[in-house]
Amino acid sequence: MARRKKVYEGKAKILYEGPEPGTLVQYFKDDATAFNAEKRATIEGKGVLNNRLSEFFMSGLNAIGVPTHFIRRLNMREQLIRAVEIIPLEVVVRNVAAGSISKRLGIEEGTALPRPIVEFYFKNDELGDPLVSEEHIIAFGWATQQDLDDMVSLALRVNDFLSGLMLGVGIKLVDFKIEIGRIWDGDYMRLIVADEISPDSCRLWDIETGKKLDKDVFRRDLGNLADAYTEVARRLGVMPGPGTGVTKPTLIN
Ligand code: UDP
Repeated sequence: MARRKKVYEGKAKILYEGPEPGTLVQYFKDDATAFNAEKRATIEGKGVLNNRLSEFFMSGLNAIGVPTHFIRRLNMREQLIRAVEIIPLEVVVRNVAAGSISKRLGIEEGTALPRPIVEFYFKNDELGDPLVSEEHIIAFGWATQQDLDDMVSLALRVNDFLSGLMLGVGIKLVDFKIEIGRIWDGDYMRLIVADEISPDSCRLWDIETGKKLDKDVFRRDLGNLADAYTEVARRLGVMPGPGTGVTKPTLIN
């Protein structure tokens, strides 16, 4: 393949220039990081699984009218996406208390929340992605009030879609993070779901056993991460077949 210009490299993905203006190629690495990259590992097959799973979630969202950056999958590790201007916020939706909200507010992990809670974190590694309020976001110009309303509504639609999908395969969607970007059509701007949706950015618990099927397996040393993601992919029917580079026999049913 011809060498392409790298536009950005993050912890788990690389972005290359796309074949047409307004597009990018998103490459999924096998690297896993946690705790602001203090913990790192390479997990064989993770990139392939996340490429497939993100394709599955994003194309489903596109199909129900929730706009995302996903155009099409190119190969086992790459997908063609629309270039967006990323809003520097991580949007987290929580259905059940876990992780930072449990720590911050002293709510026991596993407590169902009275309603989905949407939170914003300022994307800044040096500061450790601090939680910010809508006041901060508007005062510092990261987004407008209209953007915020649109972001909450997008995030809740993603939550409804993903929760239902997961419930259907015996998985509880505890929480997840999305990123949102701006695209322009002439003078008209709209917000779309960007980045990725995968078990790297969700908490997924088996409904029956409570077994964790997400990145907490890596964060908390609970077992093999690729096995957990493979389990999610298998339940959802997202099954990379032979020749995709994932050689685990569990993938080839
Ligand atoms: N999350 C993420 N990237 C981040 C921080 C959080 O994808 O940089 C996801 C995380 O996997 C979980 C949700 O957002 O599904 C809520 O994370 P939380 O605030 O509880 O933080 P954590 O406990 O992961 O530090």
